[in-house]
Amino acid sequence: MGTRKSNSRGLNKTRKVFVPRPTEKIKPGNDFYMYINKKWLSGANIPPSDSSFGVGEEVENQIRERLLGHIKNIIKQPINNLPQHEQIVATFFKSGLYSNRHKDHERTFKGILSGYSCMKTAEDVMSAMGKLVRCGVPTHLSITLGRNLNNPSQTVPAISTGSLSLPDISYYEGTGPGGSNALESFQTFLESVGKHYDYKDMGRVANLESAAAEHYHMGSREDPQMTTGKGLATKYKHIPWNSFWTAYGLKDTEWKKLHIMNNCHSWLMWLNSQLKTLIVSDWANWFRVQNLVYLGPYIPSPIDTLHFEFFDKKLRGDTVKMSQEHLLFNSISSCLQPILSIMYKKCCISDSHQKSIRHFVNKIIVSAYNRINKLDWMSEKTKSLTKEKIRKLRLEVIDSNIGKNYKISVKVMSQLDIIHNILICSEALTVRDIYYIRHPGLVTPPIDEIFEVNAHYYMYTNKLVIPGGITLWPFYDSSKNPISGWSLGGLGSIVGHEILHAFDNEGKDFDPNGYFKPWWTNKDMEAYNKKINAIIKLFGNTKYMGRFVNGKTTLSENIADLGGLSISLETLKQHLDKNNISGEKRKKELRDFFISYAVSWRTKEKKQRSIYRLFTDVHAPAPLRVNLIVSQFQDFYDVFNVQPKDSLYVDPKNRITIF
Ligand SMILES: [Zn+2]
Repeated sequence: MGTRKSNSRGLNKTRKVFVPRPTEKIKPGNDFYMYINKKWLSGANIPPSDSSFGVGEEVENQIRERLLGHIKNIIKQPINNLPQHEQIVATFFKSGLYSNRHKDHERTFKGILSGYSCMKTAEDVMSAMGKLVRCGVPTHLSITLGRNLNNPSQTVPAISTGSLSLPDISYYEGTGPGGSNALESFQTFLESVGKHYDYKDMGRVANLESAAAEHYHMGSREDPQMTTGKGLATKYKHIPWNSFWTAYGLKDTEWKKLHIMNNCHSWLMWLNSQLKTLIVSDWANWFRVQNLVYLGPYIPSPIDTLHFEFFDKKLRGDTVKMSQEHLLFNSISSCLQPILSIMYKKCCISDSHQKSIRHFVNKIIVSAYNRINKLDWMSEKTKSLTKEKIRKLRLEVIDSNIGKNYKISVKVMSQLDIIHNILICSEALTVRDIYYIRHPGLVTPPIDEIFEVNAHYYMYTNKLVIPGGITLWPFYDSSKNPISGWSLGGLGSIVGHEILHAFDNEGKDFDPNGYFKPWWTNKDMEAYNKKINAIIKLFGNTKYMGRFVNGKTTLSENIADLGGLSISLETLKQHLDKNNISGEKRKKELRDFFISYAVSWRTKEKKQRSIYRLFTDVHAPAPLRVNLIVSQFQDFYDVFNVQPKDSLYVDPKNRITIF
């Protein structure tokens, strides 16, 4: 297994994420996930302020430790000595740090709540909603940057369902964890807060959300349609769009002409009907609740405590409140993403590391290309566009263009008031979005969170994004040749997974430029569908925590896991062949590959959280992502001596290869 020199550069030393030896008592062929991870699982503690803990969180913690150490150091220095971006972070952090200043936060918060009392008309309601969207407070609608489906090189605003207070429709229907109890507790929570601030009927919002949940759920699952500002105004004519868009930040002469991606038709229909039969006091309370859900943790007692008791303890099973430093860090990483990324890049990512990762990712892309060439079930016609799509992948690897077209000045920030700072910093992100909406031909901004421990594929732009956080140990072993079994099993399979999203059940119909243009021949589609049906069956027939996994909702992720691992394994085998690596040495690299893959999914979850995820997550549970996937590969059988009597054994003729 790989080793990595502990990194002593920077201000605080962080310990390497630990990878214990496999558990000899468990046969790899019976439960590979546990064979690799049992020792880790029995030693790992879920932090009391969380409901799950996995390798992603281990790396996130390290990154946070590094960055927090850096922030705590800069706040000790005279602010004028700091570069601009550090002044902003320091001001933000300090404003939320001291409890004796909480009065300022509460005053601002109370002002926000009472502001809604002046609303009288549907115009006022939509203006308030537009303002919330602008300031990043989750409300009924959300506006993000999307693509013009008729011309994907164009950036357009995408309108989608925003959020309701509870995590998922099942909580409103009483079928989620906690049964009907969750909704009742939500109502009690709202009533307590309403009483504290003297707002009657705040508890009613629980019923309002419950009645809206089904429409919301429908609206959040619809395929996007292209329209224009004017089109929205015609179709949903009771919604005063002008009030909404002007509060969001667009002029009335601008928004009507815009192309807009509509992702939530049913939800807009519902909104339209609600604004026709307007009950302003309900809307006022609803907006108050949205502010409460978002800003509650920053408001002094009893609000922060009530918020914690309901959202964290009751719904997620957390036992201890998150520390103020941790909370502030999370807030900075969402409201000041570009700035924190600049800071992270400067303190934690070297140019040579970035270069090696680019090389690594390119190798996997080449393998994906070769793999398609070798497929026996795909016609030459389908293959050629599939290969073109891989060739045209747009890569963003630990991007250095961060902060482009993003502006914020420390002068607009408050020294004492974190609520003001959260809102003003999120607003700066919206202002940047508006800049891109006004310049639709520009290349979209780079993804800001380069400290993120994740990776992404975007089908409308055919873009592959590999942030810096995912390029660290144990996903990638920088002490070795970049092309090693270890790094390919970890980061390599993740890169492969993201590439595969270009060809999953949804992505496969988008052409290399992001146009929806199904190009597969009927015969190829038949073969593809046969494979995906086998994947649906494989997962759908497997139980986890006593409940069946949903084979359909997890399908695209399972396709990506299976195909991603095969692409990454191909990269390794090509490397081993090319360098004439055979015998024990070859076996070790292949072992490392599968071990590292299993390590990259290790997660410990509280039961409540596991069930919650079975309802809400498009990803299958981690143990299945390992066991059901590795057992499709002959190399796994060879290096771990898996036999027909072992639980994970799959008859060769029943194994699924998709790419
Ligand atoms: Zn995925």
